[in-house]
Amino acid sequence: MAHMSEEGLEQKYIKEAFDTNWVVPLGPNVNAFEDDLKQFVNSQENGSENPNREIVALSAGTAAIHLALIACGVQAGDEVICQSFTFCASANPVTYIGATPVFIDSEELLEKAIIDRKAKTGKYPKAIIPVALYGMPYRIEEIMAIANKYGIPVIEDAAEGMGSRWKGRVLGTFGDYGVLSFNGNKMITTSGGGALICKDTEAKNKVMWLATQAREAYPYYQHETIGFNYRLSNICAGIGRGQMTVLGQHLAHHKHVQARYAELLKDVPGIHLHEAPNADFDANYWLCTITIDPKVRIKGQENAYKETVKSAVGGAAGVIHQVDSPTTDCQPNENVEALRVYMLERKIEARPVWKPMHKQPVFQNSPAYTNGVSEAIFKVGMCLPAGPMVSDEDINYIVDTIKSAIL
Ligand SMILES: *Cc1c(COP(=O)(O)O)cnc(C)c1O
Repeated sequence: MAHMSEEGLEQKYIKEAFDTNWVVPLGPNVNAFEDDLKQFVNSQENGSENPNREIVALSAGTAAIHLALIACGVQAGDEVICQSFTFCASANPVTYIGATPVFIDSEELLEKAIIDRKAKTGKYPKAIIPVALYGMPYRIEEIMAIANKYGIPVIEDAAEGMGSRWKGRVLGTFGDYGVLSFNGNKMITTSGGGALICKDTEAKNKVMWLATQAREAYPYYQHETIGFNYRLSNICAGIGRGQMTVLGQHLAHHKHVQARYAELLKDVPGIHLHEAPNADFDANYWLCTITIDPKVRIKGQENAYKETVKSAVGGAAGVIHQVDSPTTDCQPNENVEALRVYMLERKIEARPVWKPMHKQPVFQNSPAYTNGVSEAIFKVGMCLPAGPMVSDEDINYIVDTIKSAIL
């Protein structure tokens, strides 16, 4: 869970919404939150140019991706290129439209996939979705160069990458659209919510119109297009306004946590912290991730995957979808699972990294262009706690626990 601002500004703005009778999916908090977001995404560092982007606040990051796809003209039967190594919400909205995601493993496969889809289907993919995984920037210059060469719009999924920058410019402001998420576990939270970063006022107005049931300008309700009820509520936007006052602190904290892990894990054999390749990649370190060499032996490893999971998975609030078998044909190595269990027994919640979409049964019929990278990382990767509540003491305890788990 993300921090409340020290001043309790969230409560002030929510109270204001009630006092002024704006308990609806529009209103002064929504407008002010959009202004704050706009100022933030257009802020520059290292002399990067002002991208002059516009913002539409929405009910979820998933909704933002859905509307971006529609705004890009994606229709049933089209294909959309999506990074395979991601959370399902990057790809799911493609299927809401009746389009097909085409999964790729890395930037190097992007052009190959585009050319091959054209050869196989006669059409180019209609959009490209790169994902700032755990906040790490994608190679946006290379992606934009290829996208522009083929005239394919880019939807940046920066849901995990709020405040990450590439050469000083905020992620989400390079492509035609950029997606932010304010879900409970993201860099800032409105309890649930998201935003779409748009290139100009025209794009913003179109998205805003689609997000509010696509009403035509008549004195009565006239509809010529299918719309959606995707606008952010004025109450949630009040939380967002308060959260924007602590965003800078959150970003600094996540970077601090990453630096502490780097310091404490550097001499632990077989454990590698994932770090930015160079200073162009200014990651927000939404989550800190490690990889564990297959040769590392963990206490209790012989019992890994012996039992099916009986509790809610990954913070899911829904019902538990019990499974018959504790294993699948693509899963983290036994030492990774053993370390997860070992840490959980000591009250530390570490999680596997996202399982690549091209290995998900639900996407088994989607084309995929892979080189083994995401699958290999899935087998050895793990996310460590990094939220605003994680203290230096906690980090010491987490690293000591990892060390004590190694045989
Ligand atoms: C969280 C997330 C989303 C969706 O955001 P919601 O606000 O939860 O709908 C999309 N893509 C990625 C990569 C995410 O992590």
